[in-house]
Amino acid sequence: MAPHVDDTIADRSLSETGDGDVVTVCAECDGELDPGERTPTVATVADGVTVYLFCDEDCKAAFQRD
Ligand SMILES: [Zn+2]
Repeated sequence: MAPHVDDTIADRSLSETGDGDVVTVCAECDGELDPGERTPTVATVADGVTVYLFCDEDCKAAFQRD
């Protein structure tokens, strides 16, 4: 019905999958991330490239300990 909705969805999926499996919530605590802010990241290449984003260095460290 509303073509603008399709454009919005396409733009969002582009920004989330351009680098592989990029998520927009913290991989450790599930907190939402501000896309305009630099966030700590961890990338793995075990099964294709997967990028994990974290809200801060503490969450990144906790994720890497697991
Ligand atoms: Zn977090």
